[in-house]
Amino acid sequence: MSPRDALLQTDASAALFDRARAVTPGGVNSPVRAFNAVGGTPRFIRSAQGAWLRDVDGNEYVDLICSWGPMLLGHAHPEVLEAVQAAVARGTSYGTPTEPEVELAEEIVSRTSVEKVRFVSSGTEATMSAIRLARGFTGRDVVVKFAGCYHGHVDALLASAGSGLATFAVPGTPGVPASSTELTLVLPYNDRAAVEAVFAEHGDRIACLVTEAAPGNMGVVPPEPGFNEFLAATCTRHGALFVSDEVMTGFRASRQGQWGLDGALEGWRPDLVTFGKVMGGGFPAAAFGGRADVMGHLSPEGPVYQAGTLSGNPIATTAGLTTLRLATPEVYDHLTRAGETIKAAAAEALTAAGVAHTIQSTGTMFSVFFAEGAVRDFDDASRTDTAAYGAFFHAMLERGVYLPPSAYEAWFLSAAHDERAVQTVLDALPEAARAAAATGRS
Ligand SMILES: *Cc1c(COP(=O)(O)O)cnc(C)c1O
Repeated sequence: MSPRDALLQTDASAALFDRARAVTPGGVNSPVRAFNAVGGTPRFIRSAQGAWLRDVDGNEYVDLICSWGPMLLGHAHPEVLEAVQAAVARGTSYGTPTEPEVELAEEIVSRTSVEKVRFVSSGTEATMSAIRLARGFTGRDVVVKFAGCYHGHVDALLASAGSGLATFAVPGTPGVPASSTELTLVLPYNDRAAVEAVFAEHGDRIACLVTEAAPGNMGVVPPEPGFNEFLAATCTRHGALFVSDEVMTGFRASRQGQWGLDGALEGWRPDLVTFGKVMGGGFPAAAFGGRADVMGHLSPEGPVYQAGTLSGNPIATTAGLTTLRLATPEVYDHLTRAGETIKAAAAEALTAAGVAHTIQSTGTMFSVFFAEGAVRDFDDASRTDTAAYGAFFHAMLERGVYLPPSAYEAWFLSAAHDERAVQTVLDALPEAARAAAATGRS
């Protein structure tokens, strides 16, 4: 620990964490927030403004989590707040259709490949519902996914590969019955041969293949050129649906999500797409959408049941709509520039300290792997030196930079990450890289 470390006062966070653990499992409402992967006490955040978080002890941090993606414009954006405050004043939920739902749906349809969209309250619900719809539409049951892709905590998708390729999966957690994953096939990402083999063997039983449009939940692993198009074509050939999970990449990797970086250019579209994170503007809103004929199978138009008391909530859709309207090409240019600056400085600092690393990107999204060589799939990502990352994470935190408390995450920026915020990150990197080097393995 450097002498500075002792200066950061965290008593109020520690006290709250004690109280939280007494009444909530692990003291958190989503596991990664608990710092289990990096050690130490999570900081309890009291407020946020622009690129900055302020914790209950009064410490300030440049936020490189951005609520795990949603805060594309930065925290407490004045126009989003104004729209939300006006919406709240009109009442918070009616259980009837509302205008903001229509406007947000129109905005999503205009920017992406989808023709129709249905709102839900979380990314988990979006992928769960998309899979039900794919099964209902095709009359088939089998789902194909990739190892290392996260689609929320959907039972059928919390699955690990069984022994050997093209075998059905085993539950990835207690509480998921084997019967929930025995219709799930798990393949290595970016592996065309594995996809071909599984469709050759099970093609007529496969309802859909679901993939992160570009994986971001094992760190950023870009699809190899043409991979998404290959997946879409393979699904079509076998009468299965291609479900592209853009919950993280949507309106984040580019203005049109990952699809704007491959599908829109190469002239193909997924059958179904899931969205979340940015489109909720920091509120619980998510969506799934796609081909009009497929979406037409959804209740009340069609037979596949799906519903939600708070789906399309007027506050959440107002926040999402305002966020998307403000997410102009200039915002994405800014994210690209700030990202390039931080990536270059991280590479320089880690190289100077002799820490093995690989930086990967898709559009404006990037992550820093504490591992040598290209990361193409989950096996590669698993080579990450998590001890080195833990030391790096804490050294950055002590210097006022809040990175994701896990080595397998993207570093998220916002339109509010201005020169002062970026400079704070740059200033912290060399010392943090030396802390990572001091853990020894590198
Ligand atoms: C975050 C995420 C989800 C789950 O969304 P929740 O709102 O946390 O349920 C699903 N898919 C991807 C790709 C995600 O990044």
